[in-house]
Amino acid sequence: SVPASIASALSAGARRGLLMKGGAVIEAAAGIRHVALDKTGTLTRGRPAVVRILPAPGIGEAVLLATAAGVEAGSGHPLAQAILHRAAEAGIAPPPARAARALPGQGVEAVLGESRAWVVSPRHAATLGGLHDAGAAEALEAEGMTVVAVLDEHRPLGLIALRDEPRPDAAEAMRQLRAMGIEATMLTGDNPRTAQAIAGTLGIGFQAAMLPADKLAAIREMAAQGGVMMIGDGINDAPALKQASVGVAMGSGTDVALETADAAILRDRVADVPALIRLARATMGNIR
Ligand code: ADP
Ligand code: MG
Repeated sequence: SVPASIASALSAGARRGLLMKGGAVIEAAAGIRHVALDKTGTLTRGRPAVVRILPAPGIGEAVLLATAAGVEAGSGHPLAQAILHRAAEAGIAPPPARAARALPGQGVEAVLGESRAWVVSPRHAATLGGLHDAGAAEALEAEGMTVVAVLDEHRPLGLIALRDEPRPDAAEAMRQLRAMGIEATMLTGDNPRTAQAIAGTLGIGFQAAMLPADKLAAIREMAAQGGVMMIGDGINDAPALKQASVGVAMGSGTDVALETADAAILRDRVADVPALIRLARATMGNIR
């Protein structure tokens, strides 16, 4: 049986769109020392927009966009949505793709016509042998943009730069966590330059270029020093959400994140993170 004060904290949370899967979540949230947050879709809106298109020499912008849209057509990733939106604006219908497959933390691959094609991080493109302008990619990333490379089996097709703004309440939420004595760290699959630009504006630390397994390892390390809360929205966050003392899903995220998490922030407010911990601390303070 759940003590009355825990039951009332659960319903107080629910009223503001903070769902917790049981009273044990309150107890664990009261002991949080470290908060880890995913970048895309958690600290940022997760609605990136295409801001630059850089075709490789000899490639037309339309070919670049069409290939990217074809590869991304089946992906639910925010970067995919932005690329499909930009292609639609340009009047380009995605060409049919087969065997599309997500490469978690790296991008997507699919077969278009006769050739396999990819939309991936510049880092992964380099390992596939198809990055034509690493310098341009790095310069755009240092300005806080996320850059993806488009290539097929024959050649690099170009770069697409996207910008995803931090959520409007993210910086204030990070200030509140700091005031509560909680350390916040951004974990991202994005590259260190983009990560530095965004974490810098939020005043928090970061770890970048992380694959899902790296996020999991980072949570394990933080957990060795005390309670750790992980907030994320994607399939790539699921292992880390499960490992954390409290895993919290952003409500507009993927079903996988929602199913794995101990709690969900339905209204996508980053400020609900410190609010959840305050509610938990107050509740456990009353019980003790
Ligand atoms: P985050 O941890 O910030 O949520 P992800 O792990 O989802 O980021 O993605 C990390 C990186 O992998 C992206 O910055 C991008 O370079 C690449 N990537 C992932 N999914 C896609 C996709 N659908 N299209 C293009 N690039 C992708
Ligand atoms: Mg994400």
